[in-house]
Amino acid sequence: MTIRGGVVYLVGAGPGDPGLMTARSLALIASADVVFYDRLIPPGALSGARQGAELVYVGKHPGIPSVPQEEIGKRLVEAALAGRSVVRLKGGDPFVFGRGGEEGEALRAAGVEFEVVPGVTAGVAATAYAGIPVTHRDDASAVAFVTGHEDPTKTETALDWDALAAFPGTLVFYMGVKRLAENATALIEGGRDPEQPAAAVERGTMVGQRTVEATLGTIAAAVEREQVGAPALIVVGPVAARRHQLAWLERRPLHGLRVIVTRARAQASGFAAALRDLGAEVVELPAIRIESRVGSPEVRAAAASIGEYSLLCLTSPNGVRLLFEALAEAGADARSLAGATVAAIGPGTARALAEYGIAADVVPEHFVAEALVEALATVEVEGRRVLVARAAEAREVLPEALRERGAEVDVLALYETVREEPGAEAIEAAQDADYVTFTSSSTVTNLTEALGDRFPKGARVVSIGPVTSDAARAAGLEVDVEAGRHDIDGLLAALLDDAAKR
Ligand code: SAH
Repeated sequence: MTIRGGVVYLVGAGPGDPGLMTARSLALIASADVVFYDRLIPPGALSGARQGAELVYVGKHPGIPSVPQEEIGKRLVEAALAGRSVVRLKGGDPFVFGRGGEEGEALRAAGVEFEVVPGVTAGVAATAYAGIPVTHRDDASAVAFVTGHEDPTKTETALDWDALAAFPGTLVFYMGVKRLAENATALIEGGRDPEQPAAAVERGTMVGQRTVEATLGTIAAAVEREQVGAPALIVVGPVAARRHQLAWLERRPLHGLRVIVTRARAQASGFAAALRDLGAEVVELPAIRIESRVGSPEVRAAAASIGEYSLLCLTSPNGVRLLFEALAEAGADARSLAGATVAAIGPGTARALAEYGIAADVVPEHFVAEALVEALATVEVEGRRVLVARAAEAREVLPEALRERGAEVDVLALYETVREEPGAEAIEAAQDADYVTFTSSSTVTNLTEALGDRFPKGARVVSIGPVTSDAARAAGLEVDVEAGRHDIDGLLAALLDDAAKR
């Protein structure tokens, strides 16, 4: 895909779940010179923007002065006329209550080219996530998207409430919470059955989505009682009751559970995504960060002479990636490992090796140094040169065992794990966590030190394996769950098992 300079892309970002952003929206964000964005865009929507891109917030927040619509139009025109590629990113779909039409008109009037990239609109997405099909063979052959923001008592209203009341299908109200009581009354006065099912969907597709069910006659009181906040949609029609058979979000195994992930940010994303897919609300507290030592004289020297080692031991996926980075810097690649036996500490490390075309010769089932020592028992090491490539602050179990067997061992520190201070917001969110997960002893020590007496007392502690569990106990924690397989999949399985018993 190419992005054109001087063109404005009116792009829909979807209803809030980052996974519902279109491929085209992501590609455009990745190559735009400037992105003007609204408040209701998914978390992380801009993380793929290129370095140096200008990111401009032009959203409207209730009660806070915002950039006027006219001004937004002007700034889009300016940026485009300067020859820049411009993404105008909006929540949901740009042409559904998104003022995309107005912005397009302003651009056309100024002679600026634009393209429209539709997004998944909240009216179908929030409802779908609530288990409410907006149409249904038996219940609704039509659906209307309606703004709830119009005042039904004002004389010049654009909405014909009697016609809406008589509409033969589902009514979906956007921006419908504030005037819900008046709107519901107007519908009932217009002849719509007050017994008809209705629902409010709050924060649809986002973390903490909530649905409140009622009837047209009682929905306003229910929304008030449950304190439904923005953004929320109101659905009126028999389909709202289909949720009793079709709700699915709430059935996911980790729904409603808050889980703390403590891995370094770079590795946390896959684990966090897996947890989210299972319904968990994830709090990322990256207690550690990986600091690469690729580029240090020591790593350079080892990369240049890698061919001299006949056994290579890798103890983490990070180590694998950094080793290949170091090789690339030295102008080498996987071929320089052709003569060596390659040992990986566990399946995750073996998978990382496979990404570079290396099938590990030795992979113990349990992902601890002792197990690797055991697995290497059948490999002749006496008199052989061995490279153990790993983190700077690791245990000496493996090098010592190999030396005892007569190997000439070099230890190469490819990275350091340094402590990262979690943000105040994340610490706050962590207080109500149901689970805290630990994937290594360093995540234990770093997190307990960083949180101090703000460590969540009620959270169940899940550890990846015995070494990490020992570290947790040494830090004064009680380990509630220990993974049987000492990798991320094993940790996830153990957590699911425990959650199922709750
Ligand atoms: N262009 C957007 C709508 C913008 S109007 C779209 O196509 O979805 C803003 C209104 O959209 C909110 O007041 C709310 O009614 C609805 N809305 C947007 N995102 C929502 C969400 N995640 N869950 C529920 N309603 C949402």
